[in-house]
Amino acid sequence: MSTLIESPTIKRPHRSPEFTVQDKEIRTILCPQMAPIHFALMQAVFENHGCRFEILPEVDRDAIEEGLRYVNNDVCYPAIVVVGQLIQAMKSGNYDPDRTALMISQTCGGCRSTNYAAFLKIAAAKAGFHNVPVIPFSVDIANGNTKGINVNFKMLKKMFLAFLYGDLLLTLSNRCRPYETVQGSVNALVESWITRLRREILGNKKHRVADFAAPIVHDFDVLELNEEQTRPRVGIVGEILVKYHPGANNHLVALIEQEGGEVVVPNTLDFMLYCLTSDEQRKRYSHVPFFAGLKSSAGAWLIERQRNKVRNILKKSRRFAPMGTIRHLIRLAEPIVSTCNHTGEGWLLTAEMVELIEEHVPNIVCVQPFGCLPNHVTGKGVLKELRSRYTQANITTIDYDPGSTEVNQLNRIKLLMAVALRNFSK
Ligand code: SF4
Repeated sequence: MSTLIESPTIKRPHRSPEFTVQDKEIRTILCPQMAPIHFALMQAVFENHGCRFEILPEVDRDAIEEGLRYVNNDVCYPAIVVVGQLIQAMKSGNYDPDRTALMISQTCGGCRSTNYAAFLKIAAAKAGFHNVPVIPFSVDIANGNTKGINVNFKMLKKMFLAFLYGDLLLTLSNRCRPYETVQGSVNALVESWITRLRREILGNKKHRVADFAAPIVHDFDVLELNEEQTRPRVGIVGEILVKYHPGANNHLVALIEQEGGEVVVPNTLDFMLYCLTSDEQRKRYSHVPFFAGLKSSAGAWLIERQRNKVRNILKKSRRFAPMGTIRHLIRLAEPIVSTCNHTGEGWLLTAEMVELIEEHVPNIVCVQPFGCLPNHVTGKGVLKELRSRYTQANITTIDYDPGSTEVNQLNRIKLLMAVALRNFSK
């Protein structure tokens, strides 16, 4: 007698419709904010590629409440912020669900960022937007569920340029803003370059990296600043969204400047390179298919070759120093953590802190979502070791989540700044 075992009913996650070539013609893609300068340029990349693309404005408390309504509150703060922002936009009535698609960033690996797209699909379905396609956006976008967008080499190159120029504008403006003699002149210069770069990206003219990097550096080099004044430099490292998104970190850059510091934020391209080199690094300890390892090393080499052009321009500048390379960052992390730490910001977080300290930025704010395990390992987890290696290090960690009070965050920053100013005046 045969026994039939009934399989339990498995509840499948909601599948959102695919974003097709036809959708590209009619649907506006809504994308949550992450890094305002970079994403303003990214918008032009998508528009140049024939997409209707809109970056959502600043996140507010209502968006976070909306996120909490549709995403389990066990889930990471960045997921609550971005899902909340998208659902809030859809519910606003400003977007027709039949003519809208939602984009969400996703990194693949051991942590919950792998599931961000799934969270959004479930949230959109629960909020009544079953028919709105969800597009995951990752470093590996060319291989993702983006058939309708049809990412090609030209688009990838423009994306790279958007991040490269975004990093450059962010670094130069943070270096100059605290010393401006005409208030608002630095942000005005950033805005004028964003407008010009968007126009160039939207146009189809080919251009080389140095065509714009050189005039950008020149403009910031000749900007009138109070050269007499100096301030303690304060680095910001941590989880990518909280690090770059002013709405998610309660305007941390402005706060540090207001407290008398000069902010240093590492490049977003370092994060891309960290993701790209993951196969190459894993290959050192476990089996990775030959071509995956090769693709990883070759991709990083190509990007660094282009960044070298910017480094050479920065070397000639009188105010700015060139950024480090991914190889240098790997070397800095290796004595402290394994470079196989690839969940969250992984080994990159440790490397960025070491790099900042060695570049005379001993004051560091490490921002992380509450309960973000990977960043607690390679961020908070390495602080004891960093403090014993670098006695000058003045590091504070700040947790961000929907329930954390701004007062606590403010107190920690004030304490860090008090120590930074005292050490600086010695
Ligand atoms: S890095 Fe941290 S915050 Fe980001 S998805 Fe992973 S666990 Fe969550």
